[in-house]
Amino acid sequence: MIQPPIPERPPFTLRAALLTPLAAGGYRWEPDAGIEVDEEGRISGVSAWRDDDATGDRTDAAAADRPVADLRPWAVLPGMVDLHAHLPQLPSAGLGAGLDLLTWLERYIFPLERDFDRSTAERLAPAACRAFAEAGTTTAVMYGAVFEPSIDAAFEAAEAHGLRAVIGKVMMDRLRYDPSLPENVVLETSLRQSADLIGRWDGRDGGRLRYAVTPRFAVSCSGDMLRESAALAAATGTYWQTHLAEDLHECTEVYRLFPEALDYTDVYDRAGGLGPRSIMAHAIHLSDREIERLAETGTRIAHCPASNLFLASGTMRLGRYFEAGLVIGLGSDVSAGPGLSLFDAMRAGAYTQNGLRAMLNDPHRTLSPTEWLRLGSLDGARALGIEDAIGSVEAGKEADLIAVDPSLTLPVPGLAADAAEDLASRLIFRAHPAMVRAAWVRGRRLDGPGG
Ligand SMILES: [Zn+2]
Repeated sequence: MIQPPIPERPPFTLRAALLTPLAAGGYRWEPDAGIEVDEEGRISGVSAWRDDDATGDRTDAAAADRPVADLRPWAVLPGMVDLHAHLPQLPSAGLGAGLDLLTWLERYIFPLERDFDRSTAERLAPAACRAFAEAGTTTAVMYGAVFEPSIDAAFEAAEAHGLRAVIGKVMMDRLRYDPSLPENVVLETSLRQSADLIGRWDGRDGGRLRYAVTPRFAVSCSGDMLRESAALAAATGTYWQTHLAEDLHECTEVYRLFPEALDYTDVYDRAGGLGPRSIMAHAIHLSDREIERLAETGTRIAHCPASNLFLASGTMRLGRYFEAGLVIGLGSDVSAGPGLSLFDAMRAGAYTQNGLRAMLNDPHRTLSPTEWLRLGSLDGARALGIEDAIGSVEAGKEADLIAVDPSLTLPVPGLAADAAEDLASRLIFRAHPAMVRAAWVRGRRLDGPGG
């Protein structure tokens, strides 16, 4: 396939169609746009393309001298923000359909994570970074495994590749797969290793790499571990990520382990784990009290609809959650989600919401395709508290961008190109594995898309 020259480093100007959510609400569609990226990798101007006017309504006068990459008929979008993925689990993606969560963990996942040492991470993490970029993801929030050196290898891979990443060492002092450590030192060791990793990696490369303190979930963590890990995240200003109410068997087990708690959410609340820097994956089986409490504390939700259907975990009442004011982004949850693409997650989410409406008379409005795109980009950035920096293609933001080839999403060749809502619809409902042709973080091109 003929490829236009794709800029590797800033500064540059892209000429392409543009589809992006806007910070002020709604979206912007330009069939022929100029997107200017300055030396620092920031978007310095976004305008409708005008051949006869080198400066036009551009905000950046220096842009006139920059190389222009004509990517038409491709479309530029913001890079996707994946709020929930498991790096060691990638090799099992697509396997284990039909199992429930706890059986799937025992059979497929713990053996993989047990083997996720430094050398495995050195092999897998660079390929994973390329695969995320190929899927259109420029920011990935990842769980590692329990072994500290493998997390260093994961950060090293993201640092070299250019992906924006939030990574954490999994913490478990119950239902764990590393019985070599004596019981009485597990908590202390896990906290010390997490703190050391924070010291080495959190904030690296001007904040491109961030750390998330990562207790796996209440089934595999004692109350002490939840509390101490939340205190570590608060003291260091890092994220705190865990799983919440993914599966009904899991919920039953949590009620057995924490009989004093009002409900599952209260287990994390009592540990000091709720708040705007906390990301709860799934959060499907929640009472109204829990929904209100999560909203009141500003706790972030990683919605993982492909995973929830794959493991038959349940369905999120997304409309109800929006009504409560929850801050929600999207997660692939690879490998409980079978793929890395957030476009696939959007499709699973849209079908889930249609199913709720058709079968259970859910009265809430379903999202439009451009609203799903927002959930996968700008809302994900908001969940991470970095919506001023990334998540949309607007002047002043860092140039975390993707370029997609819409022709690959058409059902037959020769159709007229889609615009705006139709383009978003085909990217979601007819997503093609090769449709992301280029990806950049801060204007630096990422390896992965296009081979
Ligand atoms: Zn998960």
